[in-house]
Amino acid sequence: MTNSDRYMIEMTDIHKSFGALEVLRGVSLKVAKGEVVAIIGPSGSGKSTLLRCLCRLEAIDRGSMTVAGETLAAEGPDGRSRYAPDAEARRICRRMGMVFQHFNLFPHLTVLDNLLEAPLTVKGLARADVLPEAEALLRKVGLWEKRDVYPSRLSGGQKQRVAIARALAMKPDIMLFDEPTSALDPELTGEVLRAMRQLAEEHLTMVVVTHEMAFAREVAHRVIFMDEGEIVEEGTPEEVFGRPRAERTQAFLGSML
Ligand code: ADP
Ligand code: MG
Repeated sequence: MTNSDRYMIEMTDIHKSFGALEVLRGVSLKVAKGEVVAIIGPSGSGKSTLLRCLCRLEAIDRGSMTVAGETLAAEGPDGRSRYAPDAEARRICRRMGMVFQHFNLFPHLTVLDNLLEAPLTVKGLARADVLPEAEALLRKVGLWEKRDVYPSRLSGGQKQRVAIARALAMKPDIMLFDEPTSALDPELTGEVLRAMRQLAEEHLTMVVVTHEMAFAREVAHRVIFMDEGEIVEEGTPEEVFGRPRAERTQAFLGSML
């Protein structure tokens, strides 16, 4: 088994600062193919920054990253990290779909056209070739009947399900979620979590930053607790939720009750 068969993501000793503030202080994370990893931790601990560095929305300072065995960033001889050349880095990052707290749908496009946009413009595919897949995805997230509607007419939960389908339309090998339900009214989180649970059951590789402890406990294979820019503790949901070892984990989980 080669590394790329085994790990879809390998982040090694990632450091990232904003000015004098060191937000990631040597984070290492490996995600196996088909694995669902939940990242939990207090606000400001660096969870979003970690995902944003992985999709090149932020640049890391030190450390290395591979995606499906391909080098996305590596340390140079001076110890500073460099990303792969632009075109290559873009291609590698396209293997990952990302869903944010705020859905960022294209307001001037219908639901269906939101799904078609990237496959048509980024991949240069023909509409007729993409249409069946996009339609299947809309059925899958339960929004087939909304295909011709504009995003402003959708509820938050529906918008987020469109955002998930839109990311899936690019056929990513990995899905990254950054608190996908935290901007939603409580009664709308269930439908989004159900769509995510279905993806997990289909063995999609997923990294999910979440405040939904029940979801992390039930769906994740592994739970990672981050605090102040480092991974404090990780293990199975039974380990992290059932018998947390670190005091900081215990305090955080206590505060979530
Ligand atoms: P989390 O997602 O765990 O709440 P973040 O990764 O968003 O944490 O933020 C970690 C820290 O980095 C916070 O102190 C935040 O204010 C800071 N931070 C995040 N993005 C930036 C930025 N672009 N510029 C300056 N500071 C930032
Ligand atoms: Mg965040």
